[in-house]
Order: sequence, then C-alpha cells, then structure tokens
Amino acid sequence: PGHDPTTDAGTSGAQPRVRFEDVRKKFGRTTVLEDLNFTVERGERVTLIGPSGSGKTTILRLLMTLEKLTGGYIWVDGDPLTHDRRDGKRVELRAKQVAEVRKRIGMVFQQFNLFPNMSVVQNITEAPVHVLGQTPDQARDHALDLLDKVGLRHRADAHPMELSGGQQQRVAIARALAMDPEILLLDEVTSALDPELVGDVLAVLKDVAASTDITMLIVTHEMQFARDVSDRVMMFDGGRVLEEAPPEEIFSNPRHERTQKFLEAVV
Ligand code: ADP
Repeated sequence: PGHDPTTDAGTSGAQPRVRFEDVRKKFGRTTVLEDLNFTVERGERVTLIGPSGSGKTTILRLLMTLEKLTGGYIWVDGDPLTHDRRDGKRVELRAKQVAEVRKRIGMVFQQFNLFPNMSVVQNITEAPVHVLGQTPDQARDHALDLLDKVGLRHRADAHPMELSGGQQQRVAIARALAMDPEILLLDEVTSALDPELVGDVLAVLKDVAASTDITMLIVTHEMQFARDVSDRVMMFDGGRVLEEAPPEEIFSNPRHERTQKFLEAVV
C-alpha cells in the first residue's frame, strides 16, 4: 500500500548508467552528431568503432564535459549532466551540479596528460585529496595499491618524463581509478604507444574489466581487445550509429557493408 513502482524507478538501479537523448553537437557550422540516442547499462562495456571523424571521441568528451552540447541531453544514472528539462525548457545546469555528476566519470586519453611536474604518486593523489577530500595518507595508500595493480609501485616517486609511454599510460589508468569512478572512458589509449608497449596497457585494462564492475566506454582500433572486453560494439558512421551488436556477432557477421569494409581495413 502506498508503494508506487513508477516513482521508485527514478532513484533505483532502473536508470541506465548513461543515456544520450537527441544529442546534437556542432563545431561551428559542422554537425558532428545529429540526434544521437543510446543508453549504456550499469557495468556494461561498450566499444565505439568507426572511421576517423565519425564522432567517437566527441561522444566521450561530451560525457567528460570537455565539450558543450549543442542540443539534447546526457543523463548519468538519471541525473542530467549538462542541461535539465524544466517546464518543457532546456535549462543549463550550474557548474556545481555538473561537477557532482562529473565526479563519477574517469577518463584516460591518448596522450596520457599526466602532470609533468608531479611524481607518479602525486599525479594519482591530487584529485582524491583536492576533489574528494581524502587525507594525504589515505590517498597515498590507495595510490600505492593501484600502482601495484598496474605493475608500477616501484616507480611511485619517479616523474612522468622518466617513464616509457606505456608506463605513463598505466599511471594515467591508476589516476583515473583513484577517483573510484562509476564510468571509465578510454579514448584510443594505446594509439600513441610504440607497438611493443601496447600489450602491457591492454593487459592492465583487461584486468580492470575483469576485477571491477565499472561501466566502460571505449574508443579503440584494437579489435582483439574490443572482442575480449566488450559486451557490445557500436559502429559509428557520420555521427550516427550504423549498427550495434555483441562483438562476436559484429566482427564475424557485420550487417552493413560499411562495417565490413571498416573491419577489413583495421584488422
Ligand atoms: P573520431 O573520434 O570518430 O575520429 P571526432 O569525434 O574526433 O571523431 O571528430 C568528429 C568530427 O568533429 C571531425 O570531423 C573533427 O574534425 C571534428 N572536430 C572534433 N573536435 C573539433 C574541434 N574542437 N573543433 C572543430 N572540429 C572538431
């Protein structure tokens, strides 16, 4: 009695982790995304594939609030990320509200983006201390655990410049995980690495995928990795989803010729 399942849905796990609703993105006069709709469920691993320029990185950058939406909405666990809808109107959120939602999301970039003037462990503890309010000791303990996980505890006091690209990227992964994100965005994280360093980074990410329930959105050209970790692969073309399917299906039996041609070119 008095129990209304329709209102419960708003606050329980019924909401998808991520929802793009009619998302539009223009750079100047160029439309990159046009009325894009998709959802990602909690714990799901989704890989975005497609030709260069099809809007994949823009999708991750919008989620990370590094770019502004031109239209539509992005929801995280049912909370608006940049705009809310009030009285049928699209209303921009305050920076503080955006920051609250944004805290649930971590991102790893192609170019590592470590702070060059800080040690490895300082890179990892910076945000937990200053954004989450952890004590320096707490943050350091957690950072050292994470460095263990990525195989770099022995380099805790090194500076980024002293590390290989693959090691820097593993630090960047540890830095993202230090914020305990619910969502991890991986933007071509191995594209800038020498080929012999790619394997270690992918092994770390496979371990993260296997040992956590973090929701992941992955942009990569590493199709074997996509096969290994994804629940679903979305093929983009010209800012639209051309097709989506579990990896075993899309890689062995793509429905569209565009997808087939793309896969032949990258594999
Ligand atoms: P993908 O990740 O699939 O290669 P992107 O999302 O990087 O595609 O880019 C999609 C399109 O948006 C491309 O045509 C690109 O040139 C354009 N674009 C991306 N960022 C900017 C920007 N900051 N200014 C202008 N155009 C941009």
